[in-house]
Amino acid sequence: MRSANPSQSLASDLPLTQFERGSVAVIGAGIIGLTTALNLQQQGFRVTLIDAEGVAAGASFGNAGHIATEQVFPLASSGLLRQLPKLLRQGTLALRWSALWSERRFFWLFLTSMRPNRWLQSHRVLRQLCAQAMPAWQRLLQHYQLSDLLKTHGNLLVFEGPDAEKHAAEQQQSYAAAGVACRVLSQQQTAAMCPGLSSIVRCSLYFEQTGHCISPGLLCQRLAQAFSDAGGTIQLDRVTALLSADGVAVTLSSGAAARYRHVVVCTGAASNQLLSPLGIKLPLTAERGYHLHVRLSEQPQLAVASFDRKMILTPMVDGLRICGLVEFAGVGAQPDWRHLQGLQTHAKALWPALAQQTGQCSTQWSGERPTIADSLPVVGDSGVAGIWLNLGHQHLGLTFAAYSAELLLGAMLGNSAVNLMPALSCQRFK
Ligand SMILES: Cc1cc2nc3c(=O)[nH]c(=O)nc-3n(C[C@H](O)[C@H](O)[C@H](O)COP(=O)(O)OP(=O)(O)OC[C@H]3O[C@@H](n4cnc5c(N)ncnc54)[C@H](O)[C@@H]3O)c2cc1C
Repeated sequence: MRSANPSQSLASDLPLTQFERGSVAVIGAGIIGLTTALNLQQQGFRVTLIDAEGVAAGASFGNAGHIATEQVFPLASSGLLRQLPKLLRQGTLALRWSALWSERRFFWLFLTSMRPNRWLQSHRVLRQLCAQAMPAWQRLLQHYQLSDLLKTHGNLLVFEGPDAEKHAAEQQQSYAAAGVACRVLSQQQTAAMCPGLSSIVRCSLYFEQTGHCISPGLLCQRLAQAFSDAGGTIQLDRVTALLSADGVAVTLSSGAAARYRHVVVCTGAASNQLLSPLGIKLPLTAERGYHLHVRLSEQPQLAVASFDRKMILTPMVDGLRICGLVEFAGVGAQPDWRHLQGLQTHAKALWPALAQQTGQCSTQWSGERPTIADSLPVVGDSGVAGIWLNLGHQHLGLTFAAYSAELLLGAMLGNSAVNLMPALSCQRFK
């Protein structure tokens, strides 16, 4: 898990003075790398952002845009095991058997994270992260005058079928017990709030304190622009190795190499490739997800998630984004585009305008959610001098990005007053 050389772990535990801050390479220009780079830059670090494929090349481009501050329940739960046969049958969850073996450490720790005490620990941390997520985004976007990219008028979770009201009431109680504000809307109230929704929707929960981004890709591009405008460097190259010695030596696939005082690894689902050679082996996998993006004149005004279909429709600046599916296929596996058929069928059932419009222009996309076995990200010191981690934000990377970057910065400056840092440390898997 951690470097065997104890001398390597000392320097990064010390607070940094302004003078010592110096140069930092942030590896990965997804939403996590971008918010991290901006926070460091604001504090006087000289930051280089390095990405193998450019800004928002991974999950951060195609996500559902949902600032999902209601999602306080860990993915690793006994409830998921109970629902597994139904989810597999329904096609909302898929599993490639080869991944069970190649990702066996992840799956073992995923199962053990379902124990009630572990589940509760992750749930408590997720609650704290969710509580801070929206204010952190508002701070960051206001600072860069990008608030227009964020809508803060909540979202719906819709229910269908004969047990719709019962399920909605049960869910509302669970959310209330977890301190998440939401209210049940009848069929009529749901239709009034979201005209165009199918009449198969019997009722909904309305979460007032959530929101959505009107274009996750554009958000990343604008943040990258703000970073460059403030003097930051963006470099297109793949990092092939890190070596901690007199700062951190970064080797690049172009053959170039550079030395930085600090490196922050924000490489999402691919992170173990860089970390394993350093002795840091995280229980990290990729949950592949898919989207269809359709240009449509008649869109919902707010994001609509479906309890029964495990998918979400998000109105974006350039069309309706239909997102869903969790596929455990192993990191780097090729997408299986056949899954889009099911996603499309579910979407048409929920939003009939999709079925009526023929020949509509749509694009398809797939990306990897970087997921750690206990449903929490890894943020903070890696245990190897000069190397820091901000990764593994699962289904909530967009939601947590602004706050996670603040936490990482606090850890680097040695002034993180937040009690949840041990729970986010990579040392928890030792
Ligand atoms: C279908 C889907 C829907 C989602 N919906 C939501 C949602 O509604 N709300 C939400 O909060 N989250 C959502 N998520 C999750 C969210 O998108 C991710 O958690 C988040 O984007 C992860 O960001 P990241 O920066 O860690 O990773 P990424 O965006 O994957 O970025 C990692 C970057 O690292 C680069 N990289 C990797 N290795 C190297 C290397 N060796 N050298 C240089 N660069 C490297 C890659 O090129 C990539 O650009 C969704 C995800 C999916 C797939």
